[in-house]
Amino acid sequence: MTPEDIAQSLIDINPKLDRELLIKTLIFAIDAHKGQLRKSGEPYVVHPTNVGKTLAELKMDTTVIAAGFLHDVVEDSEYSTEEIEEKFGTEIAEMVDSVTRISDIQKGIDRTARTFKKFLAYVSKRPQIIAIKLADRLDNMHTLQYLAPERQKAISKETLDFYAPLAHRLGLYSFKFELEDLAFKYLNPDEYTAIEKHLELTSKEREEYIQSIIFPLNIKMNLEQLDCDIRGRSKHIYSIYEKMKARGCKIDELYDIFAIRIIVNQIADCYMALGYLHNLWMPLYSRFKDYIAVPKPNLYQSLHTTVIGPQGKLVEVQIRTKDMNETAEYGMAAHWAYKFNLKKEELEKNMDWVNKITKMQNEISNSTEFLGFLHESLLPEDSYAWTPQGKKITLPLGATILDFAFAVHTDLGLHCLGARAAGKVLAIDASIPTGETIQILQSNSQEPQETWLSMTKTQKAQNTIRHWLRKAITTQSMLLGKKIWQKELQNLKISNVNSLYDADICKAFKVQNINAFYENLGKGEIPLKDIFTFLKQYSDHSYAWSKLKLFNVFSSSEDSPISIGYNERFLLNYASCCNPLPGDLVKGILKSGKGIEIHKEDCKILNKIPQDQLLALQWEEPEAAEREQKCVLRVEATGRVAIEKDIFSTIAKYNALVKKTIFESKEGRVNGRIDLLAFNSAQIKNIEQSLQTVAGIRKVVVS
Ligand code: MN
Repeated sequence: MTPEDIAQSLIDINPKLDRELLIKTLIFAIDAHKGQLRKSGEPYVVHPTNVGKTLAELKMDTTVIAAGFLHDVVEDSEYSTEEIEEKFGTEIAEMVDSVTRISDIQKGIDRTARTFKKFLAYVSKRPQIIAIKLADRLDNMHTLQYLAPERQKAISKETLDFYAPLAHRLGLYSFKFELEDLAFKYLNPDEYTAIEKHLELTSKEREEYIQSIIFPLNIKMNLEQLDCDIRGRSKHIYSIYEKMKARGCKIDELYDIFAIRIIVNQIADCYMALGYLHNLWMPLYSRFKDYIAVPKPNLYQSLHTTVIGPQGKLVEVQIRTKDMNETAEYGMAAHWAYKFNLKKEELEKNMDWVNKITKMQNEISNSTEFLGFLHESLLPEDSYAWTPQGKKITLPLGATILDFAFAVHTDLGLHCLGARAAGKVLAIDASIPTGETIQILQSNSQEPQETWLSMTKTQKAQNTIRHWLRKAITTQSMLLGKKIWQKELQNLKISNVNSLYDADICKAFKVQNINAFYENLGKGEIPLKDIFTFLKQYSDHSYAWSKLKLFNVFSSSEDSPISIGYNERFLLNYASCCNPLPGDLVKGILKSGKGIEIHKEDCKILNKIPQDQLLALQWEEPEAAEREQKCVLRVEATGRVAIEKDIFSTIAKYNALVKKTIFESKEGRVNGRIDLLAFNSAQIKNIEQSLQTVAGIRKVVVS
C-alpha cells in the first residue's frame, strides 16, 4: 500500500482528516524506519500504520494520528524530537516525545509505581497520548506470537494489570475486551482454549436460543411501532473466565455467557422497550439496573435487566440509545473527539479522573501507596451512595462505611461510629449499600485504631488513618518517654537534676531536640542500658551506685513503677505468651520501635530478659470519665455453629479485651454474657452495632 492508499483508507473512516498531513508524516515514518523489520518479518512501518488506523477509528484528529505514525521514530531511528518539531510542529513533537519517554521508563527494571506516576504526569498534560499508547499496545498484542514466551507473558501481564483497566476506566469497552482476551490467551492458554472450544461447540444451540428471544421480541416491537435494533452476542472469553472464577462454577452453569442488546433512538424509547420486554418475559427485579438515570463514572449509560426467558433460562438484556452505544464502544473517546480540540483548561474539566490522580500523586510520597491508589482508581467503580445532602459518592466495590465517611470529610471519618441507611444501623466495616442515602453517625470520643486499616478499602481512608496513627504514636511516645526518663531520674535518686542540660542529652543520644529524645525513648529506640550508662555520671548517691554495680537498676522492687493506661494505648503490646490484661500485675520490656511489650509479672519469659531491659509498671487508675471501660454484653442468639467464634472475632476487631465469658445454650437458643474492658464508650458502641449485624444474633444489651 502506498502512503496515498493508507491516507485514503483513514479518510474513509473519518472524512474530516487532513490528507496532506497524513501523507507527509507517513512518508517520514517510512523513511525513518527504512530497512527495519518487525519480529514477524513485515516492514516495521506496518506497526505505526496500524496504530494510526486504530486512532482514526477512535475519531482522533489528524495531529494525534500523525503522532501515532511517528510514535516510534525517535526511539528507533536517527531522528530527534527537535527534527520532528521542526517539520511537523510543537504539538505533534510533544506527543511523540511523551510516548517515547513513557516507553523509556517502561524499559527500566522498575515497571511499577514510578512508571505509572510518570505516565500520568505526561497524560495529564496531553490526554491524547493515552489513545496512542492504547493503540500501540493493541497492535503489539496482536503480533505477540513472534516474541519469546517470557516476553509474551510479561507484556500480557502488564496489559491485563494496567492497559485493560485503563481502557475500562475510560469506558473504551471494545479496547478493554480485545486487550483482555489477547492477554489471557498468553497468560492462561489452557483455560482460554477450553472456553473457546466450549463456545464453538455450543454456538449453534446458543444461536438458536438467541433467535428464540430476538424473533418474538422483534414482532412485539413492530406491533408497538418501536423502531429498534436487537442483537445477541457471546460475552468475551476473559469476562466468562472471570465470572466462572467469581462464582466458582463451570462454564455450562453460567447463564450469562451471552447478552441481548436492544438499541433504540431516544432515551424514552429505552424505558418503552423495557416495558415490552418485561411484558413478554418476567424480570428478576433484583438484577435491574438503571445506568441511564445514574451513569457509571466513565459515562457508561444503559438499562440492564435479567428476564426469565424461554425454557426458564435467565437472559441478560441491555437497552440503550445509539449515542449510548457509541460511548460504550469508543468510551470517552466519542466525547474526546470534540473535547480534544478544546483548550487545555477546558479539557481538564472533562478529565476529572486524570485530575484526581495527578493531585493524588503529589500528596502520596510512597510509591506502593500510590500504586495502590492507581489500581483502585482503574478498577470499575461500581458502588455508590448518597450523602444526606444529595451528593453522590462513588467508591470501589467492597468499600465500607468508613471509606464512605472519609470520602465525605476527613473529620467525619476520624469520628465515625457507624451509619444509618435504609432504616438500618450499619457498623463501620459494613459494605456500603449501593444506591442508598447514608447518614454517618459520629462521636467525638471515637478515634481511629490500627484495625481500621483492614476495614477500609480506599487509599484516601487508609492514608488518613495511617497519618493519624503516626501522629498519635509520636505524641504518645513522647509522653511515655518523658515518664520513663523522669521515673529513672527518681529511681536513681539523681539529686543534681539541674545540672542535666537538654543540650547534653541531645548530644549524647544524637537527636535534634529534647522532644525527639523523649519520642525515641518511648518508642523503645534507645536501649535502657544506654540511659543508665549516661546517667551514671550524674548520680553521686551511694544508693544509686550500689544499684548500678548490681546492674539491676530498672526493675528492683523498691523502684517506683511507671504508670500506663489509655494515654499509652498505641504503645502497649500485650504478649501472647501470658495474655496479660489491664489491671493484672505486669512488667514491661521496651522493644525497639514498638513501645512496651507487656507480660504478667510471673511470666517465665521475663527470667530470660536481662534486668536492665525491664520496666516496672503499674496501671493507671481509670479516670472518672473512663469508668465506662468495664462493661457487660448480654447476647441472645439462635444456636448455630461458630456463633461464639463470630462474636469473639467481632469483639477482637475493635481491640477490646474479653475478661470473662459465659455461654449457655438451650433449645436451640444461645445466651451469652461477656465481660469486656474497652478504652472508651465509642469502642463499646462499635462492638454493640457490629454484633447486631452478625447472623443469628437477635439481641445485644450493654450494661
Ligand atoms: Mn510502538
